[in-house]
Amino acid sequence: MANTQKRALITGITGQDGMYLAELLHEKDYQVYGLIRGQHNPKRHILEQHFPWVELLEGDLSDMGSLIAALEVSQPDEVYNLGAISFVALSFKQPELTGNITGLGALRLLEAIRVVDGGKGKMRYYQASTSELYGKVRETPQNELTPFHPRSPYGVAKGYAHFMTVNYRESYGIHASCGILFNHESPRRGYEFVTRKVTSSVARIKLGLQKELVLGNIDSQRDWGFAGDYVEGMWRMLQQDEPDDYVLATGVTHPISELLDLSFAEVGITDWKPYVKQDPRFMRPAEVDLLLGDPSKAKTKLGWEPKVKFPELVKMMVANDLEIEGKKELGSANSGA
Ligand code: NAP
Repeated sequence: MANTQKRALITGITGQDGMYLAELLHEKDYQVYGLIRGQHNPKRHILEQHFPWVELLEGDLSDMGSLIAALEVSQPDEVYNLGAISFVALSFKQPELTGNITGLGALRLLEAIRVVDGGKGKMRYYQASTSELYGKVRETPQNELTPFHPRSPYGVAKGYAHFMTVNYRESYGIHASCGILFNHESPRRGYEFVTRKVTSSVARIKLGLQKELVLGNIDSQRDWGFAGDYVEGMWRMLQQDEPDDYVLATGVTHPISELLDLSFAEVGITDWKPYVKQDPRFMRPAEVDLLLGDPSKAKTKLGWEPKVKFPELVKMMVANDLEIEGKKELGSANSGA
């Protein structure tokens, strides 16, 4: 009997979304392949330990040959391009690298699909687009028809990848969809991002390991959801008969000061002002305006809705960081004994 098990290739499998998506696809009985870069990737052991069912393939979004090889080996039904230089602040410091990986990387992968799939239309493609495309926003809330005005090298590179995806869909008939995702967070969020910076610092302050938390603009507002909910939306996009672009968002925004209120309250601190400093070095050269998504198309067409609300998300992240920091503290106390 023919093997009907679906196959998926994920770039960015070592990232926050890559891990949640891998779990979701595994639950759905996919054979999951993950592109992993570098000679000695520090996250490889996490994947090997916790996701032994993922087949890791060496490759890099800057290396076309490795993308072709990964597609040839995995023969995926679905390709999820989550790999990127994804941190806005870094993109200002390394704009060329960001353009190469976040922008051109998508083109290389689309071109590799065109070559390896050879017009058979077997390989569906998901592009990780972003609310940062809206930047200097033209309307609020933002939907799939709102014009883009990115305000960072990251946003500009994502704009290139977004329109290249639309172009490959229209030019070559590839089933290629873009998810314009608003911020989504989790206990797996990188420490460089503001939510995780806050929750891990709050845990460390509570445990007496850190005295203060230095942030940029605490009045910035974001539409924050839970990453586990958002990967479900990515998968749903690729199950549609026709490819299309969708906004995934909660439709509610919160200022960073509310993130501080909720996070510090979790550890019993009601007045966080003595612990928080603002430093212009953490402000962006060009700030985005109020990002607030309208996810009604995803709700109507994909039946997708975010489940986890912001207070629950913050609770989950602080609890996780208290556990991690507590273990580190115990480890260093034991090693010092
Ligand atoms: P993330 O945690 O920062 O993960 C980024 C991934 O990209 C990592 O696995 C990283 O691998 C990989 N990567 C970096 N350079 C690469 C290269 N040269 N070749 C191949 N892979 C490379 O990001 P995330 O939060 O999971 O987000 C997933 C995607 O969605 C990203 O494209 C991001 O820009 C986009 N997005 C995220 C959000 C959000 O709020 N999280 C919102 C909108 C869009 P290493 O571990 O080896 O560095």
